[in-house]
Amino acid sequence: MYVIVKNLSFKYKNAKDYQITNFNLEIEKGEIVALLGPSGSGKSTILRLISGLEIPNGGEIIVNNRVLYNKNVFIEPQKRGIGMVFQDYALFPHMTVEKNILFGLEKINKEARQRILDEVLELVDMKEYKKRYPHELSGGQQQRIAIARALAPKPSLLLLDEPFSNLDAGLKKRIRKEIKEILKKSNITSIFVTHDIEDAKDVADRIECHPCEM
Ligand code: ADP
Ligand code: ADP
Repeated sequence: MYVIVKNLSFKYKNAKDYQITNFNLEIEKGEIVALLGPSGSGKSTILRLISGLEIPNGGEIIVNNRVLYNKNVFIEPQKRGIGMVFQDYALFPHMTVEKNILFGLEKINKEARQRILDEVLELVDMKEYKKRYPHELSGGQQQRIAIARALAPKPSLLLLDEPFSNLDAGLKKRIRKEIKEILKKSNITSIFVTHDIEDAKDVADRIECHPCEM
């Protein structure tokens, strides 16, 4: 298995109860998995635990044979090689598309950086938009740039938090198809969170429910 999440548990410090108890997930390389569940059920929390933004209270997280978390190990988020696409996209508003995508890749030499930029812009079909600012793009375009930015460092796993919730209903069908194509073309292994079963059915290879008695 490429991704193994075993018996994960978590409680926010200020909360009384555990938000996540004995959560399990296994994913094959290249699979697109939807994590489906009602609002407030802890789906975003699970993504934050996998990416290292929160520290679990117990369990194990392994990606590509590398232990990211267990009772003896905690790998820092920036060292996990996990890409994240946030619900509001979280693009830097004062930076062009190009700067957004290359942010954090300053250590790579200039030619390689340019190659990565061209590659990811080609992948999301946004080559003409390098010099634009986020506010000059539509919601769907901003989302594609957020995906391009997350893929630029060549992560081993991509996490997307409610990728379809900010899009109006008329566009949803088309954008679901576009995103599925982008994920498949890039061969990335991905997990996306949604409360909408149609999102899950249209885009995912496999649906995991949370909570699972749904
Ligand atoms: P979902 O993504 O399924 O909508 P979340 O993971 O965002 O659910 O939230 C799960 C539960 O954890 C909710 O009850 C929410 O109120 C609570 N929660 C989320 N963030 C925090 C926080 N920083 N501190 C305390 N409780 C939180
Ligand atoms: P999408 O289907 O990806 O959401 P839209 O139909 O909303 O795209 O946008 C269509 C075109 O309008 C795009 O080429 C986009 O660049 C342009 N556009 C949208 N919003 C803006 C804006 N605020 N400023 C400049 N151009 C914009």
